[in-house]
Amino acid sequence: MLIRVQTKATRSLSRYKFRSLHHSQTQHRHSNLTNRSHVDYQSILKTFIARRAIQPGRQLHAHLCVTGFGYDTILCTKLVNLYLSCNDLFNAHQLFDKIPKQNVYLWNVLIRGYAWNGPYNVAISLYYKMSEYGVVPDNYTFPFVLKACSNLSAIDVGREVHEHVVRTGWEKDVFVGAGLIDMYAKCGNVGSARRVFDTIVERDVVMWNSMLTCYGQNGCAKDCLVLCGEMAVDGVRPTVATLVTAIAAAADVAALPQGRELHGYSWRLGFEIQDKIKTALVDMYAKSGSVKIARSIFDRLMEKRVVSWNALINGYAMHGHATEALDLFEKMTRDTRPDHITFVGVLSACNHGGLLNKGREYFDSMIHNYKITPTVQHYSSMIDLIGHYGRLDEAYNMILNMNVTPDSGVWGALLNSCKIHGNVELGELALEKLIELEPNEPGNYVIMSNIYAQAGKWEGVSKLRELMTNKKLQKDIACSWIEVNNKVHAFLSGDTSHVMSDEIDEELKRVEKLMYEAGYVPNVAPVFHDVDDDEKSRMVCRHSERLAIAFGLISTPPKSKLLITKNLRVCEDCHVAIKFISKITEREIVFRDVNRYHHFKDGMCSCGDYW
Ligand code: ZN
Ligand code: ZN
Repeated sequence: MLIRVQTKATRSLSRYKFRSLHHSQTQHRHSNLTNRSHVDYQSILKTFIARRAIQPGRQLHAHLCVTGFGYDTILCTKLVNLYLSCNDLFNAHQLFDKIPKQNVYLWNVLIRGYAWNGPYNVAISLYYKMSEYGVVPDNYTFPFVLKACSNLSAIDVGREVHEHVVRTGWEKDVFVGAGLIDMYAKCGNVGSARRVFDTIVERDVVMWNSMLTCYGQNGCAKDCLVLCGEMAVDGVRPTVATLVTAIAAAADVAALPQGRELHGYSWRLGFEIQDKIKTALVDMYAKSGSVKIARSIFDRLMEKRVVSWNALINGYAMHGHATEALDLFEKMTRDTRPDHITFVGVLSACNHGGLLNKGREYFDSMIHNYKITPTVQHYSSMIDLIGHYGRLDEAYNMILNMNVTPDSGVWGALLNSCKIHGNVELGELALEKLIELEPNEPGNYVIMSNIYAQAGKWEGVSKLRELMTNKKLQKDIACSWIEVNNKVHAFLSGDTSHVMSDEIDEELKRVEKLMYEAGYVPNVAPVFHDVDDDEKSRMVCRHSERLAIAFGLISTPPKSKLLITKNLRVCEDCHVAIKFISKITEREIVFRDVNRYHHFKDGMCSCGDYW
């Protein structure tokens, strides 16, 4: 009796031992796979995918072929996934082709692989092939193929995919919607992106961010800021990405009041401590003319990355604070490696500061010490700098020896230098190149007209005027604006549409009288109209920037700072006039034109008349 019980117990014990031994063996030894069930293979493959274990994956694949699982759709799908996760597109595609019935999931996996890693056109051709095989795409397929379209800027294919989306009824899906917006954004079609955005009823924050980014990427900063306001009204809580995009938009248009508002908003949400936000704020304050605030935020950064250094260096450069920009650069190089954007700032600081030798030194150091290949941006700064000093031949030689194709920025810098130094011959050559690159840009013809006029070559002036008339080109309409009490007031030249136009005119006359007494003589060279000198001086004195300044003078407290923005370069006469105005009215005037900042104070400008 006793013996029998013992035997039974022993037997069950040994069976247990055998089982647990077998279990631990199978866990640790991949080679012993013979008795595996389908479910086991699936979970092993799942682990391999997570760990991107390509080597054991290949062994398992070989094993599955031997054991007859080689054509199992579920296991093959997982294997394709494994190959893709390890960037082995070749084996993934080969296996995919061997599977007799590919389901939509499998197609998606392969399309995704190509959409992320390229070649992107394979993703697109797979997408079309899938339809040929009668497999209907779903809400996963579309974002993948749209990503491939974005990467290739293939708007035509993108539009066709959009049609399929509508036909299959996925147009209200947030993932598909975000994919469409992203595709249209990358292809520069903001209107279509917005239409997609408006179609989707239940928008999450990702959706909003996609649309904001679309505006930001395509230079629609104002729309970006408006949308950000709508998002707040809709009660959608922004993410750090939302605010970074919006702050960058405020920086692009130098919209200080909105920028400040976003700063406050970030603070209330507790995002202000994040370095990404701080860097965006540094850039925004620098571009909006508040370099001191930019500096104090920069100093409080936990970790100063290359983007943060770049934001402040470029900010200083733009405002003509060459010394500060170069000091900061020297500090930066102690522990951070500068990149090509850093040198855009450094060279532009040298350029705006008129530092020829320093500029040359930094340019050489960029190439030889930091092994950075100069881009057209670096070259245009150098050409501008060298050209300003009247070394036009050296500038031209540099263009001839560039390792990249010179763009309109480079030739434009040469043309501008020719204007300063009255070089007709080289000016004509630069204009010829500019006409090839941007035939419909009126500014180039105007500068050349200036060069001809200065040299008394009137036949040249009329030839260009004729050319502009034939091409139906008009000089860009100048516009200046100023923000007073959070409201933007914009002025065109000779504009009388402002509600306070009479008061503005009165103020201009009052200030002009004082300016003439102080020795101001209007310079009418920039006017090309066939009118007499009195009329010309009246036209110069009603330039948009003067109207904006006069409005600022009468609508802000005495001695407060004025911030004016203009869409074109400030003209020579207005530059002189604003110097007088700053002294007479005891105002600091920060003037942002299309090219740079001018800080007028006490009859002087920070640019030192060098722009
Ligand atoms: Zn002017
Ligand atoms: Zn200036």
